[in-house]
Amino acid sequence: MKNYGLIGRTLKHSFSKDFFTEKFIKENTDATYHNFEIADIKEVKEILSRGDINGLNVTIPYKEAILPFLDDVSEEAKQIGAVNTITFNNGKVVGHNTDAYGFARSIKPFLKNTHHRALILGTGGAAKAVAHVLENIGLDVLFVSREPENEEHFTYSAINSFMVQACGLIVNTTPVGMYPNVADMPEFPTQYLTKDHLVVDLIYNPEKTRFLEEAEKQGAEILNGLSMLKEQALKAYDLWNNN
Ligand code: NAP
Repeated sequence: MKNYGLIGRTLKHSFSKDFFTEKFIKENTDATYHNFEIADIKEVKEILSRGDINGLNVTIPYKEAILPFLDDVSEEAKQIGAVNTITFNNGKVVGHNTDAYGFARSIKPFLKNTHHRALILGTGGAAKAVAHVLENIGLDVLFVSREPENEEHFTYSAINSFMVQACGLIVNTTPVGMYPNVADMPEFPTQYLTKDHLVVDLIYNPEKTRFLEEAEKQGAEILNGLSMLKEQALKAYDLWNNN
């Protein structure tokens, strides 16, 4: 019997356990998937040293905090600075980032050559993976943060019509609007959005966040986080199985 699992702080509404349990049944794999809820990242040491785990996913808020506990990190995860998948290679604990792969796969059918510049809301692990993908495709990336750290980071109050017009792609990587706080939305002036915008929300519960609803009202094309979620999970499964 193989053991897989998810490390995070609050995992009650997590998608992974059901997704992988269903996949193991479909593929006739003798495996189980556990949720490891930890209140502090230091507790991860015990999980990583158990010796009976074959692969792990990592979620909020530990995708960056997990780095010092790993023996090695893939080149891509190193560049991004966040890990959401762990493999155990001959006793070595190795971190990977499949969020980037998932985001790239999910956005590909929606990207147009008019999308030159992207505005990313949030600066956490998912924002870094999204920026990595978009910069590799050749887009300019700007970040919006509650606490801007450098000149590529803007405050929410700095978002004006000119900036929205200049950024054909808007990506919400914050948890604002996620279940159960479905009435919330990022402080974004949606009135400046047009039919030429693509608005992505990495949230998948609810399927249409209030932010996406407001963007749709302005005629913008919208995409939620569901396809990214499935793609990143399938890539993690491949890594665990050495494909
Ligand atoms: P994270 O590392 O905790 O980062 C979230 C960022 O959002 C923070 O760095 C913060 O940026 C901003 N933020 C947090 N709370 C906020 C608030 N109350 N108001 C405004 N901004 C806030 O989390 P993450 O791993 O990047 O994940 C972020 C979201 O993406 C979650 O909703 C997660 O479910 C989703 N996600 C989806 C997928 C998928 O496959 N669909 C994959 C990964 C993540 P500042 O401090 O700079 O403001």
